[in-house]
Amino acid sequence: MAKKLTGLQIQKLLPKTNCKECGSNTCLAFAMKLAGAKAELVDCPYASDEAKAVLGAASEPPVKGVAFGTEKNIKAGEETCFYRHEKTFVNQTLIAININDTDSVKAIDKALADVAEYEIDRVGELLGIEMIAVSQKGSDAEVFAALAEKAWTTGKRPLILCSKDVKALEAAAIVVKGSNSLIGPATSENAEALVEIAKANGHALVVTAPSLNELVLLTAKIKDGGFNDLVMQFQTNSLAEHFQVNSLARKAALKDSYKPLGYASVNFIKDADFLNSSVTAINDICKFGGICVLPEFDKAQLVGLMALRQNIYTDPQKPIQVEPKVYPVGEPDKDSPVWVTTNFSLTYFIVSGEIENSGLSAWLVIPECEGMSVLTAWAAGKFSGASIAKFCKEVGLEDKVNTREIVIPGYVAQISGELEENMPGWKVIVGTQEAGDIESFVKAKFDKYLN
Ligand code: SF4
Repeated sequence: MAKKLTGLQIQKLLPKTNCKECGSNTCLAFAMKLAGAKAELVDCPYASDEAKAVLGAASEPPVKGVAFGTEKNIKAGEETCFYRHEKTFVNQTLIAININDTDSVKAIDKALADVAEYEIDRVGELLGIEMIAVSQKGSDAEVFAALAEKAWTTGKRPLILCSKDVKALEAAAIVVKGSNSLIGPATSENAEALVEIAKANGHALVVTAPSLNELVLLTAKIKDGGFNDLVMQFQTNSLAEHFQVNSLARKAALKDSYKPLGYASVNFIKDADFLNSSVTAINDICKFGGICVLPEFDKAQLVGLMALRQNIYTDPQKPIQVEPKVYPVGEPDKDSPVWVTTNFSLTYFIVSGEIENSGLSAWLVIPECEGMSVLTAWAAGKFSGASIAKFCKEVGLEDKVNTREIVIPGYVAQISGELEENMPGWKVIVGTQEAGDIESFVKAKFDKYLN
């Protein structure tokens, strides 16, 4: 098993001229980045062949990335952390919906339309389904290929083509060439043929084997043969076993740089029971699933999975933010009240939602706070009386409104004096600490603005 090299070990293989052309000040600094998978050896133009041979494998991402779609912008893999809080997860678990070539035309058309139309807006991000799995249950290669073509042209998403019939897979892979899809499963029996089909048509390959040991041998063999766009499918018999195997593979890839398991995984959920399929999908999203294939389209299930996935895969160091500006809530006019809060998406959406629910039309001032919540932004000096006043001046708030009252979050009551000092002629009203209390606050303070 190849051990991960330390920064000092890597530095010994570099030219040690500290020329800075790699973007780091010293070879040691660059070596430390390589060790942390935060740089690539190609950034050093003077790396020797020996360094490339030794470091080539060591500097590859521990989990190989694989990209799908015409633009190759749908990605799985490339993870560097075992736990999200260590840094961040990179590519979210892709969600796919399965259709079979034995399904009725009506059911297929409905599933494809549902997938194409499905989109939800959550805290300012549009969330949807990334892939469609097309499974061959019948025996007609032409029917399977025709369905693949239909799914690609109407679903407009990369596919996961699943069949045990090499000829059927080849026919389908050819008609969706350019979609950069995923085909398989490749086994020890058919891997050679499927690699050629995948290569010729620009697709990646699902690789499977009855045990982890056999899977390791197969991925290593395919990679040694020169093809490395692989996704692993584990053959497990229970949720617990799947969790265990997926965790073991990810740990081997990340902690021991074990390349034969350094791939994203795909899980085809067969059990259509709402609860069972939901729990399995949740496990995939939380625990290293690269692609999760749901047995059918179910809006009620998807909304929960999308929200969970967004939470798990949001970079904890880069909170989701909304654009700093003055937002209308409801249908405000020049005399409507003015509120202010931070540009952390969750804060913005909760506060604007509560103001709207109260029946009040208002202006909501959202200054730049680097996506921090109210107390964090205040503690970091990003949400002070001076900074809010400066932002209000920059956006020309006094020209937009006649009112000269501004509501601040209750948690930062202490900035009211500073804000009044910096906004001469304005009265600062201290609002509620909790957004849930906004409705009663509005009734008490802004009754005259309510219809
Ligand atoms: Fe060292 Fe290469 Fe970076 Fe120059 S480009 S500082 S030689 S690692």
